[in-house]
Amino acid sequence: MNDPGFPGPDSLCEDCGYALKGLKPDGGCPECGHPIAESSPALRTGPSWQDRMTASALFQVVADLTLRPKRFFRTLRVDGTNARARMFLVLVAGLIGLGWSAMGQALYPGGIASRLISGALVALSVILLSYIEALGVTFFSRRRDWRVPLKLAERLVCYASIGWLPAAAAMALASWPLKDGTLERWMLGVLGIWGPWQTIALLMLVGSVAMMWFEVLVWTGVRQTKHANWRTY
Ligand SMILES: [Zn+2]
Repeated sequence: MNDPGFPGPDSLCEDCGYALKGLKPDGGCPECGHPIAESSPALRTGPSWQDRMTASALFQVVADLTLRPKRFFRTLRVDGTNARARMFLVLVAGLIGLGWSAMGQALYPGGIASRLISGALVALSVILLSYIEALGVTFFSRRRDWRVPLKLAERLVCYASIGWLPAAAAMALASWPLKDGTLERWMLGVLGIWGPWQTIALLMLVGSVAMMWFEVLVWTGVRQTKHANWRTY
């Protein structure tokens, strides 16, 4: 596969960011030696989810993000619309919200309406936190001259949102012993001292460890697209 206009005036080596203007596509990058042809935008064929909304295409996205995240982002199309990426984020956030509502049944003896509302709030938080991350990515990219404007950053965080799934599960599990005081009794027994401050510190620790997968996926995405070339045809 090749792009007849590659390397064009704006083409960069996708590995090191070297300007490839005027070079032949069959050589190596003068800076890092990486084959120039591997920076061709024609290789960014994207997951088939970017073309068709089917269950198998969705499953492929989940499998690739879990097993081959680097390859997923290296072949992600950087042009076109973010509609499918947003759809993926809504699916992940909805799943987390539903899971929260279902967990709530065991945790909190409230009515179904209050459980659904808290689930919806959790889903909205996932979306909000993802977009805050996109703003952070855009900010860093601008400072470092990377090719990750807000539109691409949005696409990256939407797909990386799958990383919120274990985070949500960990937070839900942590809230269980917190709710009935088991955690406090248990920690008092082990450490001899335990108070609200320690509980807050532990929650923050669990929270930051839990969101690691999301963060790792986002920055894998940034690394694999920060010098991405656009199609010229
Ligand atoms: Zn290079």
